[in-house]
Amino acid sequence: MTRSISIFGATGSVGLSTLDLVRQHRDQYEVFALTANGNAAELAALAKEFSARIAVVADDAAYPALKQQLAGTSIEAASGPDALIAAAALGADWTMAAIVGCAGLPPTLEALRCGKTVALANKEALVSAGALMIAEARIAGATLLPVDSEHNAIFQALQGGRIDQVSKITLTASGGPFRTWTHEQMAGVTPEQAVAHPNWDMGAKISVDSATMMNKGLELIEAHHLFPVGLDKIEILVHPQSVIHSMVEYHDRSTLAQLGSPDMRIPIASALAWPDRMHSNCEPLNLAEIGRLDFQQPDETRFPATRIARAAIVAGGAKPAMLNAANEVAVAAFLNRTVQFLDITEIVSRLLDSYSPPDPSELADIFAIDKEARIRTEQLVEELKV
Ligand code: NDP
Repeated sequence: MTRSISIFGATGSVGLSTLDLVRQHRDQYEVFALTANGNAAELAALAKEFSARIAVVADDAAYPALKQQLAGTSIEAASGPDALIAAAALGADWTMAAIVGCAGLPPTLEALRCGKTVALANKEALVSAGALMIAEARIAGATLLPVDSEHNAIFQALQGGRIDQVSKITLTASGGPFRTWTHEQMAGVTPEQAVAHPNWDMGAKISVDSATMMNKGLELIEAHHLFPVGLDKIEILVHPQSVIHSMVEYHDRSTLAQLGSPDMRIPIASALAWPDRMHSNCEPLNLAEIGRLDFQQPDETRFPATRIARAAIVAGGAKPAMLNAANEVAVAAFLNRTVQFLDITEIVSRLLDSYSPPDPSELADIFAIDKEARIRTEQLVEELKV
């Protein structure tokens, strides 16, 4: 039996890792839709290699190039946000949601509304609209498979018991490239230093999020939605080697963990073959070679992002969507060298403290909150401009 799949964000780090696994098992997967933002050349090449049915660029300006590169093939070319949503509703029964940022929310939500199996890497969608996504998935009978390595680890560890038997979930964190740096040293961090993660090879935005530890803050919100054990039962533990990807402790004090080399193809493989297992050519774990595993408490004085994220969950309502929007804008401004590294969490914190919109009740409210938060964050960026 072949599984029909679509990959949203096919040209990114997670998208390419997914396609690498598909490449190893061509006979088991049929590719329906592949999408990108503006990278028409790479998208067209992938669509041809995997004989996709549809290739979609979110950016309309990239459509002529996509159309031209797919000329003479039977692959349909499309563009724009509505085309992304339409592609999410069609064809595939397994969808990889790997667009970066809240831009991935509409197609991901559409796939859930259509009752599909959604492998979720796009954490920003869940942070901004978690309650809505979980509710829509439940109504439509959709399946959400976490792909983020930590949440995938928890998902796997939860196969060993029931969620009401869980006494603690431990989200592990590498601590990022500046784990041992002082506040003063971090003041001068460049985008090049921030995107160079010690363990993982990832897209620029998530690499910066890892460096500020906002990634762990976003993951805390993600875990809160995916695994409803109560926020007080989810802890963060710094584990620099990124070997234990997270742990679940049960009432009887058994702790189940998932371990593996720091390679995103491992959690992706688990979601791609789910509920089965597939072979992957990822590096096997060699604990004797690694020798030791270290753990430490997170330092929320040097890295306040996890404290800010926890407060946003507790406040609820619009705050998580505001946090995500502010972080996206602040990270982009840092990558453009408009603000400094330490300004990122400062901007997010200031934005969250500056106003409180009404609680969202539908998708349109989330988009309105997201839009206003972006405009206000741009103003904060202007104020802090270097
Ligand atoms: P990348 O930046 O490498 O790739 C992003 C993908 O999204 C690209 O295909 C890009 O297209 C597309 N894209 C960007 N902006 C838009 C937009 N506005 N509309 C539609 N498509 C868009 O990101 P990653 O693969 O690193 O991360 C993807 C998601 O997975 C993120 O949410 C991240 O937090 C999460 N994640 C990533 C991990 C990793 O190891 N990389 C680990 C765990 C989670 P184009 O190439 O045309 O720009």
